[in-house]
Amino acid sequence: MFRFGEVEISVVPELMLREPASLYPDFAPEVAQAELSWLAPHFYDPASQTFASSIHTYVLRFPGRLVIVDTGGGNAKDRPASPRFHRLNEPYLERLALAGVTPEAVDLVVLTHLHVDHVGWNTTLVDDRWVPTFPKARYVFSATERDARDPARGGASKPAAYQDIFRDSVQPVIDSGQAWIVEGTETLAPGLDLMPIPGHAPGQMAVRIRSQGQEALLIGDVMHQPLQVRAPHWNSRYCEDQETARATRLKLLDYAAETGCAIFAGHFAHPHGGHVRRDGEGYRFEPLVA
Ligand SMILES: [Zn+2]
Repeated sequence: MFRFGEVEISVVPELMLREPASLYPDFAPEVAQAELSWLAPHFYDPASQTFASSIHTYVLRFPGRLVIVDTGGGNAKDRPASPRFHRLNEPYLERLALAGVTPEAVDLVVLTHLHVDHVGWNTTLVDDRWVPTFPKARYVFSATERDARDPARGGASKPAAYQDIFRDSVQPVIDSGQAWIVEGTETLAPGLDLMPIPGHAPGQMAVRIRSQGQEALLIGDVMHQPLQVRAPHWNSRYCEDQETARATRLKLLDYAAETGCAIFAGHFAHPHGGHVRRDGEGYRFEPLVA
């Protein structure tokens, strides 16, 4: 658990995966080799050239307000195009309960973007229907993302697998009247606002927490691995707009180094967050002490 002023941030895991370095087309083993003192074995295994990748939800406790950010892959979803998320059966809700979170208590579900590994627990299968998992929450997501993925809009040109994600995990919260569709620059509550970070996904948004002079920034998938702080030009294969993803990453690193805010990423292994420090012409990553 981390504290920023009056706000507590904790992490509820769904999955821990290993990802091949080939996920980064520009990956160079010698770059990783030079960073092994802090990278291995926790974040990166040099023998297999694989990275640790965590799928998790952030729980933000504001005074009088419970917010979760990103909802993993979800259970029982048909994902033949994404085998790692196909028909999962994970005790995620039990883990949320262990963190003191009941679905009824969640006020806001913020989705940094609408990829398969960020929206799954939006809904749960009940009597063959996908129903919102968090019955009293408003679900916050970007209009740009909605326009790109809704099969009734731009999503019609996307592969069927993309359309399925929207149908079973996003459309039900629109139908239930729980969607809060945003531009990506809004203030959601005192001390909680959004910043656009497009590239990896067209409407990706960072979630910024500011309280009593302290700041934390949840950066979605601007970086998948802390090594990208050292090699910010590396994109992942999943970045939809490669040039914009690079530009956003550089901007965000500059912002984090300049403000001293902590960043929390969508998939960094434990402790999931850290500080970005300037180092010569570039940056280095300083993991938080949990
Ligand atoms: Zn992701």
